[in-house]
Amino acid sequence: MLKQGLLRPSNLPKLALCSWFRSEDTKQSEAAMRGTTVDTIYRQIMVGLTDFPNGTAAEIAAADWAACQTDQLAGKNPVLARKEDCQVRIPGFPAPGEVDALCLKLFCSFDIKTGQYYDYELQMAAYSWALMEKYFAETWTTWLLFCDLQRVYHYTFTYAQVRKLVLEVRARYEAAAAPAFNPYCGWCANAGECPVLINRADDALALTEKPNFDFAALLANPQRLGAFLTACRAVEPFQQQANDRSKQYLLAKTDVPGWSLVTRSPGRYVEPAAVEPLVDKLGPARVLLEYGNLSEAKYAKLCAEARVNPDSAAVKTGAGTTYLRATPQLTTKGN
Ligand code: SF4
Repeated sequence: MLKQGLLRPSNLPKLALCSWFRSEDTKQSEAAMRGTTVDTIYRQIMVGLTDFPNGTAAEIAAADWAACQTDQLAGKNPVLARKEDCQVRIPGFPAPGEVDALCLKLFCSFDIKTGQYYDYELQMAAYSWALMEKYFAETWTTWLLFCDLQRVYHYTFTYAQVRKLVLEVRARYEAAAAPAFNPYCGWCANAGECPVLINRADDALALTEKPNFDFAALLANPQRLGAFLTACRAVEPFQQQANDRSKQYLLAKTDVPGWSLVTRSPGRYVEPAAVEPLVDKLGPARVLLEYGNLSEAKYAKLCAEARVNPDSAAVKTGAGTTYLRATPQLTTKGN
């Protein structure tokens, strides 16, 4: 049976696409744990602490960058960052949310984000709605401080805008609108029993099992090709589960016709400590050449740790890649 996920601000972008989207109940990823640590240190800096026993130098530098941006944006106006000041109650949501800091004089709040840019409009609209209700504001600005990218973005909302944005998603969620195929289906805890995916998987399998399946004709027809690709995508979550179950059978010596287990020999590698003598002997330039290019995010992280400004001219752009992405299938007019 399908179960709905929680109605919470961070889930809104996914619930906007399917009101049945439910996150997997897995433990926090390493990236999420880092995000929480940086958030905590940012708060500690904002309330005047200077000792952060639980943070690495890079995490402290990231939080410090965000705190400096906050100070610049708020100017001389007081900024609240204690948890109890930052809790927000969004109308109709079961649990409170939390911004990272807020400045009541300027009617704005701050959210520190680690990692890459992502569309946070709905989440920020939900926070802004709560804060506008609480402080009788007609507009609200949310500042997004991307500490790894060292970029600042903002959304400024009116009361009518946030209400409309959030109520639309909330209404579909409360009405439990029919599930709709979308790019997040592969990450949905309902995927294994979702009728949308099952029907599409059925379509794909029925099509390929037909003796007169004409693949060349399908490739020549963009309309049918799109439907076929969507159906194939729907099989992916089942394929992962089928892989895992087959491995379990084979490990337990139960035959799965047509399949067997293969164990690849593990890759061999050298840890950084073993390379240090080579750096001493050959110099860092020679050794770094073997390591190759560094991602922009890692470069920014090292610069933050070294407390130097990243050199924008040092960041090169590689060749872009083109890939296919499923376009969300929306069910209601005007959504
Ligand atoms: S698998 Fe996709 S369509 Fe089905 S409930 Fe989850 S998000 Fe919705």
